Amino acid sequence: MTARIIDGKAIAEEVRAEVARDVEAHVTSGGPRPHLSVVLVGDDPASAIYVRSKGRAASEAGITSDEIILPEATSEAELIERLEALNADPAVHGILVQMPLPQQISADRVLDTVSPEKDVDGLTPASLGRLLGGRPRFVPATPSGIQQMLLRSDIDPAGRRVVIVGRSILVGRPLAALLSMKAEGANATVTMAHTGTQDLPAVTREAEILVVAAGRANTITVDMVQPGATVIDVGTNRIDAPERKSGSRLVGDVDFEAVREVAGAITPVPGGVGPMTIAMLLVNTLQAAR
Ligand code: NAP
Repeated sequence: MTARIIDGKAIAEEVRAEVARDVEAHVTSGGPRPHLSVVLVGDDPASAIYVRSKGRAASEAGITSDEIILPEATSEAELIERLEALNADPAVHGILVQMPLPQQISADRVLDTVSPEKDVDGLTPASLGRLLGGRPRFVPATPSGIQQMLLRSDIDPAGRRVVIVGRSILVGRPLAALLSMKAEGANATVTMAHTGTQDLPAVTREAEILVVAAGRANTITVDMVQPGATVIDVGTNRIDAPERKSGSRLVGDVDFEAVREVAGAITPVPGGVGPMTIAMLLVNTLQAAR
């Protein structure tokens, strides 16, 4: 069996078109045009690309945005002061601080500062706490993107065995909370695996839906996948590719070519989870404006 490819790019375009339509309806009915402020500290080229693509996606959905670019040497106190000003500004509906931050700044302290009402990344303790408590407000974009991608591909997690490889605050933990909620589109039986998991292949083979967010190429090989399973590959790893002009290419955490021969459905990298993450950020920004 060759797996159905879940086209994250096409599904993300669908979501983005819906957001654009909903933004116009919100503005027409007298609501404020949603505004997103993206804060970037330092000059990491990958982060600069992410920030620019978020701004472009916002603009295409009718959401205004601005980028606040601060020098690498910015102190924690200076950044916190800027965030407090954004918290207090009624024209700003969503605040996103691009990670990673330079080492002199504590990400925890930054997340403690962002107003929970403007936390479109869903990563503040208040947002994560609400999600864990079963009454989410802003769900982090990657987990909600994965849920949407499943549902829009007619793969309902309800009653399914889901295994998530990775327990980060960004992906694994919020996704486990989201998919195990007693709610429509969730209701799954969820296992979270990590480097302390014994016999990982035995655990992943139990999965009807396997989500991999380990950050290492080839973490999942074909012997680790149950035939017919849905495989969601969150990983983004740059590997050497001398045949390419750029000298490298992007791969996920799953051995895609081999696994697609046994899986029922699989997401590619690139073109899978990545585009969904940006689309769900727009959903959260509209929600913040509402
Ligand atoms: P992270 O904070 O480094 O967490 C990785 C997790 O995977 C950890 O919990 C780690 O376990 C676990 N892990 C690593 N190697 C493993 C192995 N061999 N077996 C079992 N567990 C293993 O990473 P992250 O922020 O969650 O991101 C994960 C990947 O997803 C990265 O490649 C990142 O670039 C990508 N990502 C993509 C998007 C997107 O939109 N496409 C969004 C977010 C992240 P321990 O806790 O035991 O160390």
